[in-house]
Amino acid sequence: MMQNVLHTPIEYLKGVGPNRGETLRKELGIHTYMDLINFFPNRHIDKTRFYKINELQRNSSDVQLVGKIVHFKTVEQKRGKRLVADFVDETGRMELVWFRGHKWIRENLKLNVPYVIFGKTNWFNGVFSMPHPEMELLADYKKNLRTAMQPVYPSTELLQKKGITNRAIMKLIQEVMKQSGLRFGETLNQEIVQELNLISKSEAIFNVHFPKNQELLAKAQFRLKFEELFFIQLQLIRKNLLHKRKIKGLIFEEIGENFNRFYKEHLPFELTGAQKRVIKEIRSDLGSGAQMNRLLQGDVGSGKTIVALMSMFMALDNGFQACLMAPTEILSVQHYNGLVELCKELNTSIYLLTGSTKTSDRKEIHEKLENGEIDILIGTHALLEDKVKFQNLGLAIIDEQHRFGVAQRAKLWKKNSIPPHILVMTATPIPRTLAMSLYGDLDISVIDELPPGRKPIKTVHRFDSNRLKVFRFIKEEIMKGRQVYIVYPLIQESEKMDYKDLMDGYESIAREFPDYQISIVHGQMKPADKDYEMDRFLRKETQIMVATTVIEVGVNVPNASVMIIESAERFGLSQLHQLRGRVGRGAEQSYCILMTGHKLSEDSKTRLQTMTSTNDGFQIAEVDLKLRGPGDLMGTQQSGVLNLKIADIVKDNSILSTARWYASKILKEDPDLSDEKNRYIRDAFARLMKDRTIWNYIS
Ligand code: ADP
Ligand code: MG
Repeated sequence: MMQNVLHTPIEYLKGVGPNRGETLRKELGIHTYMDLINFFPNRHIDKTRFYKINELQRNSSDVQLVGKIVHFKTVEQKRGKRLVADFVDETGRMELVWFRGHKWIRENLKLNVPYVIFGKTNWFNGVFSMPHPEMELLADYKKNLRTAMQPVYPSTELLQKKGITNRAIMKLIQEVMKQSGLRFGETLNQEIVQELNLISKSEAIFNVHFPKNQELLAKAQFRLKFEELFFIQLQLIRKNLLHKRKIKGLIFEEIGENFNRFYKEHLPFELTGAQKRVIKEIRSDLGSGAQMNRLLQGDVGSGKTIVALMSMFMALDNGFQACLMAPTEILSVQHYNGLVELCKELNTSIYLLTGSTKTSDRKEIHEKLENGEIDILIGTHALLEDKVKFQNLGLAIIDEQHRFGVAQRAKLWKKNSIPPHILVMTATPIPRTLAMSLYGDLDISVIDELPPGRKPIKTVHRFDSNRLKVFRFIKEEIMKGRQVYIVYPLIQESEKMDYKDLMDGYESIAREFPDYQISIVHGQMKPADKDYEMDRFLRKETQIMVATTVIEVGVNVPNASVMIIESAERFGLSQLHQLRGRVGRGAEQSYCILMTGHKLSEDSKTRLQTMTSTNDGFQIAEVDLKLRGPGDLMGTQQSGVLNLKIADIVKDNSILSTARWYASKILKEDPDLSDEKNRYIRDAFARLMKDRTIWNYIS
């Protein structure tokens, strides 16, 4: 019954009608009574407290006072007049000011009678004043029933123009509350309500709009934020569980020859604790009988490659093939060379397939894949082509996941009749809570430890005017036998101009360093030319690499110890961090120098300062998230994470964790929500799914 009332189209509400209905739908997405109730205020104006005049602060926001008008005067000014009233309480004197409506005010406001006034104060020439205050006789104020905290709703220009003011919205919401009898059905179970000490749904709805005091407002917000995040997590986790129940996975029963031999005899270093832990997590997935879908997060240089290789050995040891897909040609080649080197004592057959693989080689690869002669295939998007058929693909690994879309992940699934296990790796760390929301359907592993003995990279910010000093520093480092990257921004829209910047930069570097060899790599070069230049740099034939961000991802030249980033203010934080990760890979002290002009926005300053103060990718990701909001972070666009009504993925981090914990606990105990004690959750969830209030997350 009550639910029906709430599903009434908005134009039927008293005070709305077809016209306003249309505006509410278009501007605020409010279609029903329910939508209106779930349209939450941005903030509240606190009228619970009265200030004294001698307590006013020069920068005070809206305040409320009690006092009397003792005198009116009219002051001539350039344009028109202003009406000024002397307003006093027992602690002092201030002024009330009007620029319009003088006649009405003189006739209606009374002298020497206590009023409650409300508004913003200004401070000028030693006197506080309040322009166009809201005023009410103290006697009336006491008579009226009111909520002391006044909601302020988000608004738009059009709403204002159509007269749908804040006050109008308040009235409409009050009307819905009246009609619904203020009874909003419970949506959580008793356990959660009790353990978290939540107020009821009805109380929460009422108090989020018209709270009696700050404490109730906080409780209302907490409950509604929790609820919002809880149902999203419930959906994500449920999807994950259903998936595991439904999708049979290949079972890798044994740890065999390849894995053991490599581990015992050929591992070039001791694994870090984090690497060991992650390998165990993967091992347990691969033996579980369900298909693995795991995200491996690890900062640049944390050693994800070796984890990938050892996981691939698990597939090989159980008679399956494995593949590793990387976003660029350069990176694929590097992975290929690296893995061939690591496996040189084993008889693993590893092949490389990219866009520039010759047709004849391609044919050979296709054949060998199908008859099982290839154990590990490494490559770019080329791996996804239909022609690429495996005899028995057991594990597919995607490096730098953010460069690939969901569709590509899905394509890999189809490379075997029983879908292969999937491991996606990313060096763009995103805060764990956000990861849980974005990739809730993936299990997450984190390498949160760098291999020992790394010297932290020293990062500094230098203005362009200090370029000569920077050049001198470059020379010194090259004299010590090191190599240097100089990176220029490349943004799609102004590609031509950036290209010119790059070329100008290259020429000036060539002039400045006539004795050194210089490589150049950019996106408009043919892959073969890029590889040639990269290779020269890798073999130390060139000392300086001038490049655009094509070298951002994964490239590994341990002898390069200086990273110069030109126009650093034009890069995002995560990009800067990725670029910096190209150095600091060898035993030498490494440096990152961020070059900029003097004109910098506040955000740019924050980015530069963050870069110079920390090397921790997760910390940088947090700042990035705060600066840009989740909207700009990769993946969030499609995910609908932004569609939150009240919770904030950044600020409400801890509520999100709690919500996730409860969601997963409940689903563990009662996967179908069929238990009577979870009936409110079940019903609310079904309703949300039906109304599509919960966005369909990445599938
Ligand atoms: P990323 O996580 O950025 O892909 P890599 O796998 O490329 O990192 O590893 C970076 C470097 O660290 C490589 O040169 C690799 O050989 C080395 N490395 C990885 N793990 C360890 C370890 N446990 N101890 C020492 N060096 C390691
Ligand atoms: Mg890597």
